[in-house]
Amino acid sequence: MTSPSDTLTETPLGVLRRVFGYDAFRGEQQEIIDHVVGGGDALVLMPTGGGKSLCYQIPALVRDGVAVVVSPLIALMQDQVDALTAVGVRAGFLNSTLDFDARRRVEAAFLAGELDLLYLAPEALGSRATVGLLERGRIGLFAIDEAHCVAQWGHDFRPDYLALSMLHERWPAVPRIALTATATASTAAEIATRLDLTGARHFVASFDRPNIQYRIAPKREPRKQLLDLIRTEHPGDAGIVYCLSRASVDKTAEFLVANGVSALSYHAGLDAATRAGNQKRFLREDGLVMVATIAFGMGIDKPDVRFVAHLDLPRSVEGYYQETGRAGRDGLPSTAWLAYGLQDVVQQRKMIDSSEGDLAHRRVLAAHLDAMLALCETVECRRVRLLSYFGQDSGPCGNCDTCLEPPESWDGTVAAQKLLSTVLRLHRERNQKFGAGQCVDILLGRRTEKVTQHRHDALTVFGIGEELSEAEWRGVVRQLLAQGLLAVEGDYGTLVLTDTSAEVLGRRRSVPMRREAAKPARTRAAKT
Ligand code: ADP
Ligand code: ZN
Repeated sequence: MTSPSDTLTETPLGVLRRVFGYDAFRGEQQEIIDHVVGGGDALVLMPTGGGKSLCYQIPALVRDGVAVVVSPLIALMQDQVDALTAVGVRAGFLNSTLDFDARRRVEAAFLAGELDLLYLAPEALGSRATVGLLERGRIGLFAIDEAHCVAQWGHDFRPDYLALSMLHERWPAVPRIALTATATASTAAEIATRLDLTGARHFVASFDRPNIQYRIAPKREPRKQLLDLIRTEHPGDAGIVYCLSRASVDKTAEFLVANGVSALSYHAGLDAATRAGNQKRFLREDGLVMVATIAFGMGIDKPDVRFVAHLDLPRSVEGYYQETGRAGRDGLPSTAWLAYGLQDVVQQRKMIDSSEGDLAHRRVLAAHLDAMLALCETVECRRVRLLSYFGQDSGPCGNCDTCLEPPESWDGTVAAQKLLSTVLRLHRERNQKFGAGQCVDILLGRRTEKVTQHRHDALTVFGIGEELSEAEWRGVVRQLLAQGLLAVEGDYGTLVLTDTSAEVLGRRRSVPMRREAAKPARTRAAKT
């Protein structure tokens, strides 16, 4: 038998079959591989599970020299190298987890030309010693994985990635392939510029994941709603549940366990050993539910994750797409479920307002949130919206909540006017700002302590909104926020008018709204 690395004259397809044991290439893999093997630069945008790894692993075996793979996923390098070694590929990695001896061994193998792939953390390229090492070896290819990390306003920005443009300056003859699963046209352009890849050929795969059913539900009692989803649709299935805070990760995991679901937790507040142990169990055992912050998941290759649930609103459509993309990598039907409520909007605005960084940065964050809100409130097919965000056209999918149960839309213009004029009157007549709760109490004519204390029952808008329930009013607020007709600010999530509010108040604009599918249970009896 020939050794797997003895592949100089073997074709990519031969390597695919002999080394990796697959019959045929998927999608654009063959074209990408041929292009890179031939010495061309490539920028590959392919959804999670699309098969990006082979796009550089096979050229690594076919081309002369070592392929240097830059990846931020230090925790997974050992697994990746083990998986390659298991099929006979000569791979190693250099990162901060190695001790002196192990590092020396990898360096020696690299210099002796005994490696096909060398994985590096991006910060390694900031070290003179490592760059010096690379200069003494023979490099056949650079692969830059998770290339969106170079995008400064993206959701995974890593400053070390900015230094990767030097690869081209130092090794102009070595082809480079940059890969990412998350990129809008503007992120792709940013990657190309920052990595000095403007001459690279772009390969853009379809971002559609037809086996994932997208659903976005109004948030009522999120943990109970989640339990219901697991019990009715995914009993015994592996799944990932995303929460915004560590505290809510812990509470949710406890709640699931108390209700008989095998759940683990993962967040940056757990010690490294617990985190690694939980991750390992999730990958190896069947039917576990991982409750996590978004710290969990990048690079996780578990094919049979049957559902991804978000109990809090993701910060961007890109983040949402990437996180939900961890479901159903095996191609079987899977669910992406998100519970979303007004409080999410308030909380995220607050986070943006108090975030570090300049005004431009906060504007970008706000634009990301707005796009996410628009996806939540759309009456169109979710998939059409999602794909169009990535610049891809498609038709109604038949496999999302709005396709399966088309939401009724209703003319919310009068409701919008009532709500906006409540905000306006509080401001004009009393010089006050309040959150959604107080505005809704006023509209519903509730004489709560806070209403009487501020004499809000004397406002002309008091009690003019009794035709809608509290939940419906909260829906009105959310949709106005999503449409940019209202804004929230400050620590208490106070409501303020926007530049476009006047168009609604002046009857120059109508406001179509999405009616919530199921009647929400009455959560709070009217206060008297
Ligand atoms: P990505 O990095 O794009 O998320 P991976 O490279 O991890 O995706 O590939 C996802 C899964 O698909 C892996 O289990 C991989 O082995 C498998 N795979 C990739 N290409 C092929 C192929 N041509 N035929 C069969 N399986 C493939
Ligand atoms: Zn659809």
